[in-house]
Amino acid sequence: RMPEPQARPGRSRLIVLAGPTAVGKGTVAAHIREHHPELLISVSATTRAPRPGEVDGQHYYFVDDAEFDRLIADGELLEYAVVHNRHRYGTPRKPIERALAEGRAVLLEIDLQGARQVRAADPSATLVFLLPPSWDELTARLVGRGTEDEEERARRLRTARTELAAQNEFDFRIVNESVAEAARQVVDLVQASAR
Ligand code: 5GP
Repeated sequence: RMPEPQARPGRSRLIVLAGPTAVGKGTVAAHIREHHPELLISVSATTRAPRPGEVDGQHYYFVDDAEFDRLIADGELLEYAVVHNRHRYGTPRKPIERALAEGRAVLLEIDLQGARQVRAADPSATLVFLLPPSWDELTARLVGRGTEDEEERARRLRTARTELAAQNEFDFRIVNESVAEAARQVVDLVQASAR
């Protein structure tokens, strides 16, 4: 078992949750959203099309390329990246700054490139990396959720290898054995971090 992560004092209340495809970031974030409404979970903008059941403004802000360009040009994104060599994703800056100013904690569920940009923008941000119990478990989860075709799965697994190789850049690593347990560890870090 991994030791329990211990938050360090003097960190900002901006927490980045990253980790490879299908590790369960979205599920952990959804669990936190349900149980900890005091925490702001950022809603990203993306140029990817909605999946069945995804709601605009709730899962993502679904925008076209022109609108994404405008968000960049107007400085409205805290970070943005092309993910899986495909679509663009970015974090709207304003809701985060507002929440942090109110003393609320903010959780960003973004990729490795985004995590690095947030670290550069705010060195006191806390970077958390969610790990699968094993590589086999990760591939099984990706196949099991059935939301990507073969080509897209291969693309995502390539990104996953790159992301796993960078896990040492993160302040904390949490193994996602159980969603509730992983969510609890993230929330503990959030609640322990304060300026
Ligand atoms: P999906 O298409 O499965 O919803 O997300 C694909 C990847 O995009 C995930 O790894 C997710 O963490 C990442 N992602 C989602 N929103 C953002 C964002 O705002 N910025 C960055 N850099 N990555 C994001």
